[in-house]
Amino acid sequence: MSRIQGILSQLYNENYIPKYDMIYLLENLDEGSREQLFDCARKIRSKYYENKVFMRGLIEFSNICSRNCIYCGIRAANENVDRYRLSKDEILSCCKEGYELGYRTFVLQSGEDRWYTASKVADLVSSIKELFPDVAVTLSLGERSYEEYKLWYEAGADRYLLRHETASRNLYEKLHPDGDFDNRRQCLYNLREIGYQVGAGFMVGLPGQSHYDLVEDLYFLKELKPHMIGIGPFIPANSTPLAKEKAGRVEDVLVMLALTRLMIPESLLPATTAMGTLDPRGREKALMAGANVVMPNLSPIATKSKYQLYDNKICTGDESAHCRMCIEKRINSTGMKVDMGRGDSLIA
Ligand code: SAH
Repeated sequence: MSRIQGILSQLYNENYIPKYDMIYLLENLDEGSREQLFDCARKIRSKYYENKVFMRGLIEFSNICSRNCIYCGIRAANENVDRYRLSKDEILSCCKEGYELGYRTFVLQSGEDRWYTASKVADLVSSIKELFPDVAVTLSLGERSYEEYKLWYEAGADRYLLRHETASRNLYEKLHPDGDFDNRRQCLYNLREIGYQVGAGFMVGLPGQSHYDLVEDLYFLKELKPHMIGIGPFIPANSTPLAKEKAGRVEDVLVMLALTRLMIPESLLPATTAMGTLDPRGREKALMAGANVVMPNLSPIATKSKYQLYDNKICTGDESAHCRMCIEKRINSTGMKVDMGRGDSLIA
């Protein structure tokens, strides 16, 4: 057996390999061993989640942001963004439409927008839960205090998505001029302690990112053991400091997805919109590399195109009902099946 074969079989059987083997794998994968890696990831995914793909309805409720992450299209300093903020009624009507389309999870995402005070968000969450008691509510509003997270949890929020973005302190600090590496991680630990199902995650192909940085992501995740892990390619965004940089590669994201599936087998892994943006079959390929969640957009058609985290984001002109059907066809083409349930993680 070659060294790669040995490493893959240890990863498959033990869901763990030492860091030096992980580096070796990343530096030596060829086309054949990459296919074997994806095959292992699919087998593990099926063992835990069968062939189900869980659907989440994404509502991007504000693109107003006080932060200046240098990769992000809606960073505060970007003056070429048409800013919007949905009202409570507008958000509730997105939920209503989503509920009628069968969604039982709503993900409410925004920039870091303090207009949505702790009490406004708590009120929004409890209203959604009152109207739709059988849905899971996921929040993704960025870094807030322990008390705010707790208030929202008590109001009924079930899950929180906060990608760690990169586990390399050095890279993190370069990308986030007004960010605090330790605080972002602390937020993840706080969310977990409060009782949320937690989503972390990272970008692949960031300018300056090495294999060593990506390995740090995998081992940080192994330790944190989040319920969900969002992994997508970096894609340059107009009018940002990284506008002229190269995008991440779909193949590299697929490898990271498969490795994540093997290291944290019970995690929920979305096939991200960013993958679909770089490659028309990017989301299908992600599902074939171990992903098992998709997050179709439920934002109002008038604002879909304004939440441009990166250039050429797909589906911004499509009605929510269209996205619902389109994604189902894509999922079926991979031999997997849509599951419209809440789709809770198997991780305790
Ligand atoms: N304010 C929230 C939501 C941020 S946007 C928060 O802080 O969590 C959601 C995710 O989009 C980010 O976590 C980041 O990983 C991703 N993203 C932002 N800009 C991107 C880009 N240019 N390319 C790819 N992904 C990007």
